[in-house]
Amino acid sequence: MARNLHGDFTRQRHSFGKVFKPMTNTEQDRWSRVKGRLRSSVGEDVYSSWFARMDLEGVQDESVRLSVPTRFLKSWIQAHYAERVLSCWQAEMPEVHRIDLTVRTAMRCAGATAIAPVSASHDALGGSPLDPRLTFASFVIGRSNTLAHAAARQVAEGRRGDPVMFNPLYIHAGVGLGKTHLLQAVTWAGNSGNERKVLYLTAEKFMYGFVAALKTQTALAFKEALRGIDVLVIDDLQFLQGKSTQAEFCHTLNALIDAGRQVVIAADRPPSDLESLDDRMRSRLAGGLVVEMGSLGEELRLGILKSRVAAARAHHASFDVPDQVLDYLARSITHNGRDLEGAINRLLAHSKLNAQPVTLEMAEREVRDLIRPQEPKRIKIEDIQRVVARQYNVSRSDLLSSRRTANVVRPRQVAMYLAKTLTLRSLPEIGRRFGGRDHTTVLHAVRKIEALVAKDVALSEEVESLKRQLQE
Ligand code: ADP
Ligand code: MG
Repeated sequence: MARNLHGDFTRQRHSFGKVFKPMTNTEQDRWSRVKGRLRSSVGEDVYSSWFARMDLEGVQDESVRLSVPTRFLKSWIQAHYAERVLSCWQAEMPEVHRIDLTVRTAMRCAGATAIAPVSASHDALGGSPLDPRLTFASFVIGRSNTLAHAAARQVAEGRRGDPVMFNPLYIHAGVGLGKTHLLQAVTWAGNSGNERKVLYLTAEKFMYGFVAALKTQTALAFKEALRGIDVLVIDDLQFLQGKSTQAEFCHTLNALIDAGRQVVIAADRPPSDLESLDDRMRSRLAGGLVVEMGSLGEELRLGILKSRVAAARAHHASFDVPDQVLDYLARSITHNGRDLEGAINRLLAHSKLNAQPVTLEMAEREVRDLIRPQEPKRIKIEDIQRVVARQYNVSRSDLLSSRRTANVVRPRQVAMYLAKTLTLRSLPEIGRRFGGRDHTTVLHAVRKIEALVAKDVALSEEVESLKRQLQE
C-alpha cells in the first residue's frame, strides 16, 4: 500500500515546528513496551497491517510524535485507532495526552532544506520519489485523456537525438484526474529501455533543491547537472513560487528547450492562469502542446477501479470485488481518481482484516464519506412526467387525465412520488400540476409507491432507473 519509495529516507527528528529532543534509551524501551501493549490489544493481524511501520519520532512533555510512511495509514490509524494508541502510551506514561501522527515523506522534504545537505545538487537530482504503480500499463484511457495519453506516450518513446515534436508538453487538469500518474508513467517508461535520463521533479522539489544549492554555494553545479538530462518532468508547476526560483526555472527551461531536450509539465491550470509567472514564461509554456484532461466519465471510473482491483489482487489473491459493487462505486464516487483509489484501499483493508468478502452493503458503509453530494440538479415536474410517460409507454396527457385504468394509474402514482422526492414542490402544488388533483390524492400516491418500493424489487429498480435518468 506504500505510495512512495523512500530509498534515501533518513530520520530527522528536529526539523518540525516544535523541537523534539533526540530519543533516549528509556524512550526507546518505553516505545517497545507500548508496541507490545498495542500488539496484544489489537491482535497480531491488525498490528502487522497497521502498526508495523509506525515509528517513534520523539516525546515532548505531554505529546508523543509518531510517524507512518503513507497518508492512507495515517488517516486509517487516526480514524480507527487513535484512542487505542493513546491509552497504550498512557499505560506507560500517564502524563501523555496527545499523539501527533505524521507522514514520513513530508518530513523528509521539510528536513531536506532545514539540514544543509552535503550534496544538495545530487539530492535534488535524485528526483522525487516515484510510485511503481503509476505506469502506462495501469493508466486507463478514456475520452477525457486520450490526447494527453497519446502525447505522453510519444514523449516517452523518443530516443536521444530524436527531433522533439512538441516542447514543452504541458498537461493541465483538476485534482485527481491523472496528471501525476501520466508524468510518472513517462518517467518510468523513459528510464527503462533507452539510454535517456529522465528526471521527475515536483515543483516543490525543484525549489528546495535550488534553495539548498544556493545555501551551500553549489548552485552552478546544480544548474549544470539539471541541464545534463534528456527529459525534465515537472509536476504541480502551480506551486513554483518565489522570484529567484522562477527566474531559475525559466532559464533552465529555456536552456533545455533550446538544446532540444524534452520538457513535460503538469499543473492544475493552463499556462495563462499561472499568475505569478511573467508573460514571456507563460508564452514559452504555451508554445509547445497544451492539453487538458477533463473529468473522469463513468466508464473511465469503472476502468480505473478494475485496474486498481487487479493490481491489489497481485498481492492479495483472495481479494475480489463483485461487478455490482464496482458499478456502485463508479456511479457514486464521481469527483476524482484519488477517491476511487481510496475506496479500493478501504475495501481491501476491511476485507482482509475481517476476513470477509466484499459486499454491496459493506461498500456502502465503508465509502460513505467519499461520496460527495452532487451539485443537486434542479429537476422539473415536466421532466418527470416526460420521462415516466416514456418509460411506461403512455402519453403525458394520460398522466394528467382523470383516466383510472391500471396502465395509467401506476405510472401516474410513480410520477407523483418522484415529484415529491426529487423536487421541493408541496403536495398541493404537485396536485395542481397533475391535472388539478387534490393534495390528499398526491399523498396517497406517495405512500402507496413508498410501500411498494420497499417490497417489490422490480418496481424499486424501475424507480431507481427513473431517478438516474432524471439526474443525468
Ligand atoms: P493528479 O496528479 O491529477 O491530482 P493523480 O495522477 O495523482 O492525479 O491520480 C489520482 C489517482 O487516480 C491515482 O491513484 C491514479 O492512479 C488514479 N488515476 C487517475 N486517472 C487515471 C487513469 N486514467 N487510469 C488509471 N488511474 C488513474
Ligand atoms: Mg498530482
